[in-house]
Amino acid sequence: MQIPHFFRRATVALIQWIDSDHCPDGAEKMRAEPDRVDLVRVMPFIVLHLACFAVIWTGWSPFAVGTAIALYFIRMFAVTGIHHRYFSHKTYSTSRVGQFFLALWAATATQRGSLWWAYHHRHHHQHSDDPEDAHSPHVHGFLWSHIGWITSRRNFPTDYSKIKDLVKYPELVWLNRFDLLVPLVFATALYFAGALLSVHAPALGVTGGQLLVWGFFISTTFLFHGTACINSMAHLMGKRRFKTEDDSRNSFILSIICLGEGWHNNHHRYQSATRNGFYWWEIDPTYYGLKLLSWTGLIWGLKPVPVSVLEEGVRADHHMTVAAVAARHAAQPQHEYSALRRAIPVATAMAVATATASSANLPKKADGPAMHKDLSELAHNLTAKTTPPVIGASSSTDQT
Ligand SMILES: [Zn+2]
Ligand SMILES: [Zn+2]
Repeated sequence: MQIPHFFRRATVALIQWIDSDHCPDGAEKMRAEPDRVDLVRVMPFIVLHLACFAVIWTGWSPFAVGTAIALYFIRMFAVTGIHHRYFSHKTYSTSRVGQFFLALWAATATQRGSLWWAYHHRHHHQHSDDPEDAHSPHVHGFLWSHIGWITSRRNFPTDYSKIKDLVKYPELVWLNRFDLLVPLVFATALYFAGALLSVHAPALGVTGGQLLVWGFFISTTFLFHGTACINSMAHLMGKRRFKTEDDSRNSFILSIICLGEGWHNNHHRYQSATRNGFYWWEIDPTYYGLKLLSWTGLIWGLKPVPVSVLEEGVRADHHMTVAAVAARHAAQPQHEYSALRRAIPVATAMAVATATASSANLPKKADGPAMHKDLSELAHNLTAKTTPPVIGASSSTDQT
């Protein structure tokens, strides 16, 4: 009874590699299941990681490594600027053709289709850090929030009812349904580009296999984990400027890794703005890239952060600074006391030593011209003037 059931499920998972909307029992039923890793369904994801080790055989070249780094950032921009800031939040506008082009670009990131991505992300904002949130590190733990949740069977189907504004475009639904197609074409193109370069530009030292491993497998694996850091780390690491109902945080480090997405607390406070770095000092490369794209005419209508939210942020920063200073002051008496405890004996010792030196080692007044009044003479005079005459001493001497 169990074995046919397993094979049936495995067959469904295999078909889902090609057609991710294939759900014979209904997507709703699948989403209602408890979390359970689907090893067959997740096999392409495991292969993506294991294939990185093929570098042992392909080796490396500066061109291949440079391609991997460039493709990391080009596709990170697609994840943050397209999957996130366009499809999930619609923070700017584009034409229908432009939208399709953007979806194709984002699909090379190999993080499923834009519609699946947007559905899960909107769900995250609706249920941030509560038990419904599929990838909250506070509810499910770090590992599950980083990588576990995407291996769970219940999280594979796209809930189209939650993204009605996107479902009306069949070309987007088609791309979302066959989400392995673009990555396969992209990886194949990289292989052939490397093979062509090995023939026509042998000085680069690159081969088809090398460009496939570095440009696709290694770059895409890093890209996945960089993106996943926002689900896991951005709710654990950094500062909270806005008191949102979740535990989202702002982190400069994550903003570098994820091109501006690290200002996650800002984003949870106001999701409709194109920029996540609300102030000029909050580096947001995705926003700069989108601004450049807007000058080409491909996109337009970038949404600003409302002045009221910016002012609220300034006030929050001010309160945090005041609280930090108050906390320092509260801790200071202890420091002052310890400093005094160290300083008083030292100061006393110095005073005693100075007094002893001034009375015992002071140079004798030298006879000579009035001009020869150096500092020691002045000091001698000063001591003589300030020391009262010891009358008793001289008389007692006389008496003896
Ligand atoms: Zn979040
Ligand atoms: Zn978001």
